Amino acid sequence: MLTQAYPYPFAGRPLPCLVGGELVSHGRTFENISPVNGALLATVTEADAALVDRAVRAARAALRGPWGRLSTAERCNLLRKVAERIEQRFDEFVSAEIADTGKTLEQARSLDIARGAANFRAYADLATARGSECFEMATPDGRGALNYSVHKPVGVVAVIAPWNMPFLLMTWKVAPALACGNAVVAKPSEETPSSAALLAEVMQEVGVPPGVFNLVHGFGPGSAGEALVSHPDVNAIAFTGESATGAAIMRSAADSVKALSFELGGKNAALVFADADFEAAVSGTMRSVFSNCGQVCLCSERVYVERPMHARFVDELARGARRLKIGGPYEGADLGPLISRAHREKVLSYYRLAREEHGEIVCGGGVPAFGDERDGGAFIEPTIVTGLAEDARCVKEEIFGPICHVAPFDSEEQAVQMANATRYGLTAAVWTSNLQRAHRVARQMEVGMVWVNDWYLRDLRTPFGGVKLSGLGREGGMHSLAFFSAPMNICVKL
Ligand code: NDP
Repeated sequence: MLTQAYPYPFAGRPLPCLVGGELVSHGRTFENISPVNGALLATVTEADAALVDRAVRAARAALRGPWGRLSTAERCNLLRKVAERIEQRFDEFVSAEIADTGKTLEQARSLDIARGAANFRAYADLATARGSECFEMATPDGRGALNYSVHKPVGVVAVIAPWNMPFLLMTWKVAPALACGNAVVAKPSEETPSSAALLAEVMQEVGVPPGVFNLVHGFGPGSAGEALVSHPDVNAIAFTGESATGAAIMRSAADSVKALSFELGGKNAALVFADADFEAAVSGTMRSVFSNCGQVCLCSERVYVERPMHARFVDELARGARRLKIGGPYEGADLGPLISRAHREKVLSYYRLAREEHGEIVCGGGVPAFGDERDGGAFIEPTIVTGLAEDARCVKEEIFGPICHVAPFDSEEQAVQMANATRYGLTAAVWTSNLQRAHRVARQMEVGMVWVNDWYLRDLRTPFGGVKLSGLGREGGMHSLAFFSAPMNICVKL
């Protein structure tokens, strides 16, 4: 039943760290557990502060070595080879990602791994095509001067990624960082080390010089994560994860004034106006609430529907949610498990809280029973809640599971006010057939990204990031290249 189409690439061997071109698999280990059935997948080598220090030193040495002397075109050709090699080992990457996360085969293939490989090609192309600024200026002696800028790397970059889309979100930072000539020390979430470990192998296979890409496994506080972000010789940190973790990292990074790019949590709203295409709004909202079992930072957890449509919308959304097939990655399911039992406990605590806060659970609210090994996994029911007050904790706090609260609104002004009444500001979805309203409402959203009549439609060149508690800075396209580069102005007297 849980047929695994491709063998897990690390079966029977510990996952190593990669430091200065050397695979390190001695020292302390931790366990990588399957969220599908609770089985042990592999043991993982945990990097301590000394190994993290070695990784940072190796990265610094690489910057001073041949890597630092490559032209942008040479560097980017190497990154295109990384993309090719990922595609050659595509099934192994898919298998690794699925083993760690339990996500569906369809999603791992079409989104996580495909986009992960595409990140290397896209940023190689963008960095190769990038020009620089040039300003002629007048001088008092009439000879004039010429200013031009060169893009230098920032230096040693720490990349810290979460577990929900492990490969996509790690490569999204590693690719532009390397394209800009930096050296990277990457730390995946301890829940999802496998696709990053394969990436380390690929880097070696295509001849990325030792120390340019280093991989350290481990946890956050008191482990590899904290050692990395507080290391005095790390110049920049690109982090995706929870807002509270971002705040902790910011404190650690303050002493050595590191550059920071943060993609953090969200409590995103979908606004559905009564003039919206009903079927499209329902199916789009289904996707925006339940994709990846609700574990996407862009997911909608608050759905506001104009009152004349509200009851019908809730009925249809609940009908759709009840039809979702929950199951393992290779079973053609719509909904896989959450990432872990611990995360399921957190999400279930919000299901309980929704009842305590006097919400009505329209569907779901519990844990499915399979009567087989999947009962050892982290599966959970998709859940729709109505009737909560706008100041209820379930409406205010990020849950990061397959749950949304659906509330009615009576006017455009009220919808905008409700959507913006949050400390987060990542995304919003607006569903309407009124073009003027679409533009007007979209602009009023206090977020980094708005979709009109769709959700999670992404062009890699567009700015990605959030406002308020949802992040700092922008990545995507030239925004990523800007973060991972240190422009230097050269002024030449003519
Ligand atoms: P966490 O913040 O718990 O962890 C993210 C990464 O940071 C992990 O690798 C973690 O290590 C590490 N970490 C934790 N504490 C520290 C520390 N003190 N110093 C250095 N590193 C540390 O996030 P999750 O993995 O739980 O991911 C879910 C969160 O990510 C949600 O809030 C979601 O909204 C957000 N997210 C945001 C996105 C965006 O683009 N805005 C996209 C995707 C997710 P470990 O886990 O191994 O302990």
